Amino acid sequence: MAQVLGEIVPFDCLRMLAGDEQLNMTLLALNLSGHVNGVAKKHGEVSQAMFPGYPIDSITNGIHAFTWSSESFRRLYDRYIPAWRNDPLSLRYALSIPLDEIWEAHGSAKKELIEYVNRHSPLVFDPDIFTIGFARRATAYKRPDFIFTDAAKLAHIARTVGKIQLIFAGKAHPKDRPGKELIRRIVDLGDQLSREIHIAYLENYDMNLGGLITSGVDLWLNTPLAPNEASGTSGMKAAVNGVPSLSVLDGWWIEGCIEGSTGWSIGPATGYRREGPTDEAQDLYNKLEYLILPVFYKKREEWIRIMQHCIAINGSFFNTHRMVQQYVLNSYF
Ligand SMILES: *Cc1c(COP(=O)(O)O)cnc(C)c1O
Repeated sequence: MAQVLGEIVPFDCLRMLAGDEQLNMTLLALNLSGHVNGVAKKHGEVSQAMFPGYPIDSITNGIHAFTWSSESFRRLYDRYIPAWRNDPLSLRYALSIPLDEIWEAHGSAKKELIEYVNRHSPLVFDPDIFTIGFARRATAYKRPDFIFTDAAKLAHIARTVGKIQLIFAGKAHPKDRPGKELIRRIVDLGDQLSREIHIAYLENYDMNLGGLITSGVDLWLNTPLAPNEASGTSGMKAAVNGVPSLSVLDGWWIEGCIEGSTGWSIGPATGYRREGPTDEAQDLYNKLEYLILPVFYKKREEWIRIMQHCIAINGSFFNTHRMVQQYVLNSYF
């Protein structure tokens, strides 16, 4: 602070606002804000426990529904829910969109993704195979390699229950060594498993690629180490494209998960866990093996109904229109 800005605020004063030993930006913000909120209910609770002296509210994040919808879903929504662009709450009426048209819109988004992956990966991906997506900053707490906790088990499921292909993307911060190691590990695992599961780690992750992946996969995977994920937003992007999540109950997913209707949870809710990560991994494999893959491959109508619920229940709510309204009403006023 002294080096960069000099004593623009008397240091005694800064110590009172931002901590005695070092400049704590969180304390500084807490002390200078008229209203404080977490970015999901859980984040509000966790933050409140960390900073008991400050009243902390919560306003759950959202994504801009139009920006994050694939071309095919934009066309579908325009046809059935014309108001959706400026009033994404009306995506609740996705419940009346015919299932075959939802499937068709998803098919176009998936085709676009698979074509992209096939241009950028040595392996050949197949649009008829169940496709799991994982794309976000590569950093340790997000545990991108979690699905490989028992790689043999994953391969066994793919062999015996239904084929699986995996699409990854995400950059690590240049100074985040463990984050970079994780990318290397997944690329190596992709080589080792290539005969049983096709795995792509796509380069140059950005918003465009993010949009392509969140809209084009069949399942959105999210395996952070709870309670570290403040909100998470990529699963919301998936939801507005009818893509269900399989996720640890952390961040926004505690609010968005209706088990079997909008997706699936991994492991018990935070605060209720007794065992370690192996317990969570077992749960992930069980859900894939007994609930998710059988519905995707054998009960297609039920699968598409889940997609419809993702849009109607989560797409209609976890968007910026609702979020900004809550900031205006609950925070700014
Ligand atoms: C949405 C998005 C993120 C955030 O994803 P999380 O699931 O919240 O980590 C990061 N990077 C890009 C490019 C995105 O589009």
